[in-house]
Amino acid sequence: MGLSFSEQRDSHTTSVVSGATNLVILDRDGVINRDSDAYIRSVAEFQPLPGSIEAIARLKRAGYRVAVATNQSGVGRGYFDSKALEAMHARLNELVSAQCQMPIDLIVYCPHRPEDHCDCRKPEPGLLLRIEAELKTSIANVPFIGDSIRDLQAARRVGARPILVRTGKGRAAETQLEQANLTSVPVFDDLAAAVADILSA
Ligand SMILES: [Mg+2]
Ligand SMILES: [Zn+2]
Repeated sequence: MGLSFSEQRDSHTTSVVSGATNLVILDRDGVINRDSDAYIRSVAEFQPLPGSIEAIARLKRAGYRVAVATNQSGVGRGYFDSKALEAMHARLNELVSAQCQMPIDLIVYCPHRPEDHCDCRKPEPGLLLRIEAELKTSIANVPFIGDSIRDLQAARRVGARPILVRTGKGRAAETQLEQANLTSVPVFDDLAAAVADILSA
């Protein structure tokens, strides 16, 4: 295996994607994989939701770049380390690559606790700005699919297009849209449904 993921990413972006906006950003827990209040601490606990891997592969085959932006305060709390997190993300990429021969383009995470007051823990916009910088593209109007109000707020703050899914914490978040002033956010049952809508546009 000679190619690193970043090398594959570069060759992919130059050969397939020309439009700068062919990007979709995803939250991880509750969107791609089952969430847990006890945190997802290991590869064994990383369980994809039905249809989520296929949905990511659909985006990739359609020429989209896919990035993931995830809060992982379990690192800062000492529940698991960045090595364990990277093993989960390697597993995720293995699953995606098995379906479309391409990995996710970029996965960024915030390891901090809320009390660290960093600028990357969603709803702060730092993770999304990092994606913008690392992928060298504007994320204006780029879909950001999440299952929590925080995800939607982070998207709003950078001019991305927030989309809610009902998996994970999504059903609870759906009841809070009005008080969060987010009633115009589209809501889908799961990632597969949200992706189908993006690809039909
Ligand atoms: Mg989530
Ligand atoms: Zn952070």
